[in-house]
Amino acid sequence: MMSRPDILQVAVPTPLFSLFDYLPPVGCDPEMLRAGVRVRVPFGSTERCGLVLALRKGSELDAGKLKQAIELLEPEPLLQPGDMELLRWAAVYYQHPIGEVVAGALPVRLRRCLSQTHIVHSGWRLTSSGRRVDPESLKRAPRQAQLLSVLGKSPDGLSREEVVLRVGECRQVIRAMEEKGWLETCELEGGANSAGPSARSAPLELNDHQASAVAAVTDSLGGFGVFLLEGVTGSGKTEVYLYLIERVLARGRQVLVLVPEIGLTPQLMERFKRRLGGASVALLHSSLSEKGRELAWQSARSGEASVVLGTRSAVFSPLPNLGLVIVDEEHDLSLKQQEGFRYSARDLAVVRAQRCGCPVVLGSATPSLESLRNALEARYRHLELPLRAGGAVVPTLDLLDVRSVRLEAGVSPTLMRMTEEQLAAGNQVLIFLNRRGYAPQLTCYDCGWIAQCRRCDARMTLHLSSRLLWCHHCGSQRPLDNQCPDCGHGSLKPLGQGTERLEESLQKRFPETGIVRIDRDSTRRKGSLEQLLSDIRKGRYSILLGTQMLSKGHHFPGVTLVGILDVDQGLYGADYRAAERMAQQIIQVAGRAGRAEKPGRVVIQTRHPDHPLLQTLLKNGYSAFARESLGERKEAGLPPYSHQVLIRAEAHRMEDPVAFLEEGAALAREVMGPGVELWGPVPAPMERRAGRFRAHLLVQAGSRPGIQALLARWLPELRKLKLSRRVRWSVDVDPQEML
Ligand code: ADP
Ligand code: ZN
Ligand code: ZN
Repeated sequence: MMSRPDILQVAVPTPLFSLFDYLPPVGCDPEMLRAGVRVRVPFGSTERCGLVLALRKGSELDAGKLKQAIELLEPEPLLQPGDMELLRWAAVYYQHPIGEVVAGALPVRLRRCLSQTHIVHSGWRLTSSGRRVDPESLKRAPRQAQLLSVLGKSPDGLSREEVVLRVGECRQVIRAMEEKGWLETCELEGGANSAGPSARSAPLELNDHQASAVAAVTDSLGGFGVFLLEGVTGSGKTEVYLYLIERVLARGRQVLVLVPEIGLTPQLMERFKRRLGGASVALLHSSLSEKGRELAWQSARSGEASVVLGTRSAVFSPLPNLGLVIVDEEHDLSLKQQEGFRYSARDLAVVRAQRCGCPVVLGSATPSLESLRNALEARYRHLELPLRAGGAVVPTLDLLDVRSVRLEAGVSPTLMRMTEEQLAAGNQVLIFLNRRGYAPQLTCYDCGWIAQCRRCDARMTLHLSSRLLWCHHCGSQRPLDNQCPDCGHGSLKPLGQGTERLEESLQKRFPETGIVRIDRDSTRRKGSLEQLLSDIRKGRYSILLGTQMLSKGHHFPGVTLVGILDVDQGLYGADYRAAERMAQQIIQVAGRAGRAEKPGRVVIQTRHPDHPLLQTLLKNGYSAFARESLGERKEAGLPPYSHQVLIRAEAHRMEDPVAFLEEGAALAREVMGPGVELWGPVPAPMERRAGRFRAHLLVQAGSRPGIQALLARWLPELRKLKLSRRVRWSVDVDPQEML
């Protein structure tokens, strides 16, 4: 009897939910057939690059119908069995097509049928004549002198990234020195880079709280355990991470560190590299080039990088020797992907640690209610850092009642006066307003017309510097009207405050003062955020104003006063998470003040000074607030005391989304177990967005298995509905935003 052939089960990037069976390529050495290699396969009338997830004998398909794969794309598996299991688990849990999940976990070039880039990248080193130049002789070209001495210490050369990290952006300096024949390009090995032992900075002496946190995690190295590290802003969480990383590296294992998008600052990277000395740190974030990402990914995979520091998607990086996972700012919304494959990197980090048997540390000053509940119920170990490290004190928070106060560009006279005082004393002031643009509304004083987005149920934001009306929901823009399109009069007026307007009026009020605005508009150009932040540290600006971009991870030692302009929206938001988010934001922004010797003050303007949430937060702090909120959630049966899945649907015809979800709900009722509830369908909070009508169906259940069992039976039926092809729809497991 002939032995049956091996069948390749391939994840092909398509929106379908199954793996695809293929016969091995013609003449392929059976030894080469391994799970984890990429393979070029025929798919419909085209070819695709897939990844072999498993091999098996035989297929449900007729042998005659099976197609043959075209070629294997590498001799060695790209992913290890553990990596692939995590991807398969995530595809099932988040109900996303496996082929897309797998492709998304690979560097962009490897999603196509391209061969792997070897870990070689180019950099610069000194030529022999460059080595003979004395930096002292370059008094009039200080940056050349600086680069010369930096390269002088690295005879093997430095990558572009390392050069920029040490001396800043310096294209022209490099060109000038190249022309003089002092430096040349060279090839460097490795996708990760190390600071070199000379740059190494010494660890700080831990305080007692830090020391016991380090001890607790160290004790459990080698086995699974989740730790919630709840430490006030500036309490030295990062220092704890660094100690732990050193211990794990000393055991020859790798560490994965996930940070939120705007938390991954050059400052943090520099701190890691300096502290971890010779160890190589691979950075994985969205502003890297495709090639840079691939090199970092490869260095994680080969084990060359001992630390991977990255944003959300780094949770999928291949780490053959993982010994510890750290998730910093674990409450941060950017750890959840909000479109396509809607995974939570924090939750997957926990799953990953569990599967590979290592500890995971979730750190935050403002833990999510999910993690806090797990800690309070002893599923996670709770480690607390209640004090600021290094003697700084946590700033005091005060409410400023602005109910009957005339505001000047959103700022009350009291806050203006306090700002003045701090400026006079030579300190920095930070003003937080989470709304970019000039004004959130443009209106006609004659007829009451308001500039609306033509494609959304939303108002257009006025951006005065670019003379545009801009919808922040769908991105559509149009030139600013000169006169009212309705009545033809010319009295169009901005209403409300955005950061642009705030900047304008503060500049008028403090004409001599350096003011910097940090928001998505002012930092659109690559590298401009870093430039502004570094100018802030150099003391070039005395007033810092901006959106949440300014609130995370940064250390501004000169800031002694923080003004928070607009918290009232969050107090009465439609989303039950609005209060939690607002509290987190207040505490995070407040945490920017008084981080050094100078004590800080935080002032929160509000029209609801008696609001119980604000009162609890101010009097008793975030922990008390969070515990109180947990009580409310428990009573209401809301997450984390239940689990949710949100089905979103949208279409050009108004009736379609609700009709689809109604049919879907009927199907769900047929297969639903006890303890599962359906809410809706209802129109989305913003019913029309980008020209489409939108509706929601919320599924809620007391247990995860209950909801997962429903999804497994229900969604395949939902996909078969005729209407499912007329609407765009998506499944969001553990949704974080109800938009
Ligand atoms: P977090 O990550 O909690 O915001 P960091 O680790 O950034 O805190 O520490 C805040 C500041 O306190 C930093 O300037 C850091 O250098 C300093 N710091 C941290 N731990 C100690 C310590 N044990 N002794 C002195 N200073 C410390
Ligand atoms: Zn008008
Ligand atoms: Zn719009």
